[in-house]
Amino acid sequence: VKTPFRVRNIHPILFAIFPVLSIFAVNSINILPGDVAVSALIVLFVSVLIWLGIHAILHDKNKAAILTSVFLFLFFSYRNLLFAVTNLFYLLGLDKIVYQNSDSKSILWIWLLVMFCLFALFTWKFLKSKWNLEIITKYLNIVSIALIAMVFVSMGIELVSTGRESTAAYLSFDQKWADEIANEPCRLKKTAEKPPDIYYIILDEFGRDDVLSDLYGVDNSRLISFLNREGFFVAEDSRANYTHTSLALSSYLNFDYLNRISAETGLYAMKEKHLKTLISDNRTFHQLKCLGYDVISFNSGFSYTEDIPSDTRYAAGWSPTDMETLLINNSPLALFLTDAQFDWHRGRVLYTLKTLSDLGPSDKPRIIFAHIVSPHPPFLFGENGEPVNPRNLYSLDDGLTLVGSNSREAYRTGYAGQVTFLSQKVQETIQGILKNSETPPIIVIQGDHGPASEYDNQNLQNTNVWERMSIFNAYYLPGKGNSALYNGITPVNTFRVIFNTYFDGGYAMLPDISYFSPDVDPSKTTDVSALIPENDPGKKASLQNSEP
Ligand SMILES: [Zn+2]
Repeated sequence: VKTPFRVRNIHPILFAIFPVLSIFAVNSINILPGDVAVSALIVLFVSVLIWLGIHAILHDKNKAAILTSVFLFLFFSYRNLLFAVTNLFYLLGLDKIVYQNSDSKSILWIWLLVMFCLFALFTWKFLKSKWNLEIITKYLNIVSIALIAMVFVSMGIELVSTGRESTAAYLSFDQKWADEIANEPCRLKKTAEKPPDIYYIILDEFGRDDVLSDLYGVDNSRLISFLNREGFFVAEDSRANYTHTSLALSSYLNFDYLNRISAETGLYAMKEKHLKTLISDNRTFHQLKCLGYDVISFNSGFSYTEDIPSDTRYAAGWSPTDMETLLINNSPLALFLTDAQFDWHRGRVLYTLKTLSDLGPSDKPRIIFAHIVSPHPPFLFGENGEPVNPRNLYSLDDGLTLVGSNSREAYRTGYAGQVTFLSQKVQETIQGILKNSETPPIIVIQGDHGPASEYDNQNLQNTNVWERMSIFNAYYLPGKGNSALYNGITPVNTFRVIFNTYFDGGYAMLPDISYFSPDVDPSKTTDVSALIPENDPGKKASLQNSEP
């Protein structure tokens, strides 16, 4: 039996791995190398099956290879070609028709039909023709090698243009940071026989009650009254320290500002790639592990917090990696898997809240870290928890990108429904945690930053910092904990208060500063604290009066 494989037909292999490598090159911060390898193997395996299938029909190795390459190119360029056509319409002034609908299902179906017809037409012409197969094969080999080479060149450029750091410092950051954390002296003292469990629950993008009511028409007072009744302290004037998740969480979990961390350690910590390291391996977990704590975490569906090194990690079940999501979204598979992707994410949010509620006591003390990517978009819950599927493809896009592809009104409606549901759901979760704990735990529920209907991550002038940086921030500190808290506390001080109150940590409290920082260059931070109005005192008074 003759096989279709010959060195001369190398192009189908390269056309199969090109989409995987190019996605990695563009998103190298978010994607783990292991995920790249798995995706490349799967795509390669399926591509070889297609190749063998076509060969079995045509009995011509060159023709089979050429058709396989054309198919792979069209399949993985499906979305990018649609973008190209959409942009062409934009240039022709027809954007009103297309741009508003470019993500809607009907456009995607029409586009699939167009691509299918193109492929069928090409196949028909190609099989009838007497084209020189040797020459086509040679050109396809050259093109595919050039594409792969371009990916490697762009990855190389990314590596040497590391901003303020040298390439060597950039590459060795992870190890140096791990050493830095490992060498940090244990500062906490065991002041109780069994120290309390600590629940650190981040509800991504949960805004402050004045933002919720004034911009979104959502009344969060039931949750706040409930929490007050249970003995929580709700910091009603709280602000985020940073505008986006990666900066915020790496700061909060290391209870310091990133510019101070850089200055203190001599390690330049303000690169996206480094932020993931700062979140995975952080001072909070280190200090608590010194005291014998276990780290419990949850898969979040967000690459920075998806795989926190933990003693126990809970996951809602299988869901695609970021790499797989991007491959799906670029290909026609998006049409068939989008609803499943929404279901997976909904399942993850509900599973995490339920598991937190049911966790119950354990022998060892635990730091339980749950990063819940909600009410952050996608907006998947209506106000009573009913499933809502957006018309966009599955993504964690936010701010200007999301508002641009829908409308500000749609954003506000979607967020309002989702946050209303979560506000109710959190109440159930807290009731569960308190009921199932043998000794009172420490609980923190926090938005890492606020919502984003008026947020341009590149441009402060174009951003409503009051909306983006006023956060929900509530503490259950059993015993005398509340006396250390104040209305304007920001998350950078969260673990300083906890460690000082319960473990004699002796940490100095830091000034509460809110920084705006453009996504592309986290080092260009601007102190915007003074631009954020305080929570309306009149409303606060009426809230306090309504308490039983
Ligand atoms: Zn966030």
